[in-house]
Amino acid sequence: MLRVAIDGPGGTGKSTIAKAVASRLGLEYIDTGAMYRSIALKSIRLTVDPEDENAVVDMLSDTVIDFDDNKVFLDGEDVSGLIRTNEISMQASTISKLGPVRAKVDEVSKRLAATKNVVMEGRDIGTAVIPEAEVKIFMTADPAVRAKRRYDQLIEQGKSANLEEIKEEIEKRDYQDSHREINPLKQAEDAVFLDTSEMSIEENIDAVCDIIAAKTGAEA
Ligand code: C5P
Repeated sequence: MLRVAIDGPGGTGKSTIAKAVASRLGLEYIDTGAMYRSIALKSIRLTVDPEDENAVVDMLSDTVIDFDDNKVFLDGEDVSGLIRTNEISMQASTISKLGPVRAKVDEVSKRLAATKNVVMEGRDIGTAVIPEAEVKIFMTADPAVRAKRRYDQLIEQGKSANLEEIKEEIEKRDYQDSHREINPLKQAEDAVFLDTSEMSIEENIDAVCDIIAAKTGAEA
């Protein structure tokens, strides 16, 4: 079995890197954040307060989340393209504090990791979802660098963006994700720390593949 757990704060480029590494090594890529984002999307659609645990549990009782072929499905609908907004990022961070929400995503994530060789990324993969993962990486970058990357991406897409606002949102989400009670963002003791502030995407992919090769003796 080869399970690679990549954790770290938002906007670090984990998704881009994890996807590329999975494709290079022939592993399944699983984005757990996309599942929290889907639950957040449903709560916005149904105007369910993300802090109201009873209302959220009610909503979850008829919610089916699935992940297949790099796409996330909410009640059978492919919502992969709809969940990449700032509003959803913040709502996902708030709703993911709730135990029943975490339990729902954990169940899907654990099921996927039990049957396939995976690169799974999120906040608590190495600490809680697959603590037995063969390779664990904690990936981070300076908040100013992360904000600039996000800003450049939005400008490139022809969207308007404010660097200061993006930086504030990143810091707020970092704080929420690392200070919640259940499975907060935290480096696993046996995870390799990787600061990508000064790395290009290619260098970052190579660095992750090198870590995997060193841990497993596999060709990467
Ligand atoms: O990684 P991404 O930015 O898509 O994650 C969205 C939000 O989902 C995070 O800010 C975090 O609050 C939550 N999340 C989590 N645990 C994970 C993955 C994501 O709490 N394993």
